[in-house]
Amino acid sequence: MPTAIVTGAGGFIGSHLVKYLKNKGYYVIGIDLKKTRYSQTRADKFFLADLRNDRQATKYIVAADELYMLAADMGGVGYINTMRAEIIHNNASINLNSIRAAHHSGIDKVFFASTACVYPEFKQETSDTIALKEDDALPAQPDTPYGWEKLFTEQVLRSYALDHGLKVRIARLHNIYGPESTFQGGREKAPAALCRKVALASDGESIEIWGDGQQTRSYCHIDDCCQGIFKIMQSNYDQPLNLGSSELISVNDLVDLIAEVAGKKVVKKHNLNKPQGVRGRNSDNTRLKESLGWSPTTTLKQGITPTYYWIANQVR
Ligand code: NAD
Repeated sequence: MPTAIVTGAGGFIGSHLVKYLKNKGYYVIGIDLKKTRYSQTRADKFFLADLRNDRQATKYIVAADELYMLAADMGGVGYINTMRAEIIHNNASINLNSIRAAHHSGIDKVFFASTACVYPEFKQETSDTIALKEDDALPAQPDTPYGWEKLFTEQVLRSYALDHGLKVRIARLHNIYGPESTFQGGREKAPAALCRKVALASDGESIEIWGDGQQTRSYCHIDDCCQGIFKIMQSNYDQPLNLGSSELISVNDLVDLIAEVAGKKVVKKHNLNKPQGVRGRNSDNTRLKESLGWSPTTTLKQGITPTYYWIANQVR
């Protein structure tokens, strides 16, 4: 039975990935600052640990066939634009400690959850954006320290690959959403926040939208995300790959879609003083398809429906 360590196993993607790996027959060790919030973990062992601390990283990241690095201090656009110093310090510490612990314990295959936030701001200035290709990341100008740190960690991993033969697999995740994601408290991302707002609104009531709502994104369902992470890890492709949907939508249209799923009418009240992130961002999946013969298949409508109902149940 292969053994996998998943850091960030108490978080949204990490807890789903633990389930996915268990279904694939893995023995799974989860590590996180906190336990899974919305369901019982399926990990065979789960350690509460702070990976900013190198002694804890060394203690819990032990011999295994594969390490999945998902632990991060992160959140939606509001969070990553206000907690800049904390985020860059925490995530650099987590990642440097995790990679060194993996190297010392003889783990030779490591997956890293990078992000679409590594891409330069100057490629994302219009709503009708051209989808981002992997090579667009350099020359670099991410719009947040969160993105800079992910790009830095990609380089750290590249150095371990060159100097020590570490097998590195990197996915640049584009806006993952689904049931059991954070939907309140300040770290939630747009799809979950909008589902919560629609769920709490009465028919005909207004909800606050950050920005003018014409900013565009693509959103990737959690099931596609876990499948993609696993496929990337099993592939021989050792450079960063986009992992996202290429179904571009404006925030205004996303609100309309959620309202349709909810069977409600909502009035959009735009707040231009709130952060909206880059103007437009989409995932070019050409290289993903070439490398894996696969790309995400869940449409936004298919994915947002169970997500909305899960969040509506939580807030009820
Ligand atoms: P999440 O916040 O739900 O999960 C991250 C987990 O890391 C949390 O459970 C948190 O407690 C844990 N963590 C934070 N600091 C830690 C520390 N010092 N030691 C141990 N654990 C710690 O976020 P998520 O959405 O599941 O994201 C997982 C990974 O994917 C992150 O690396 C994130 O940057 C990346 N990513 C996510 C998205 C997305 O849309 N969700 C997009 C791009 C990249």
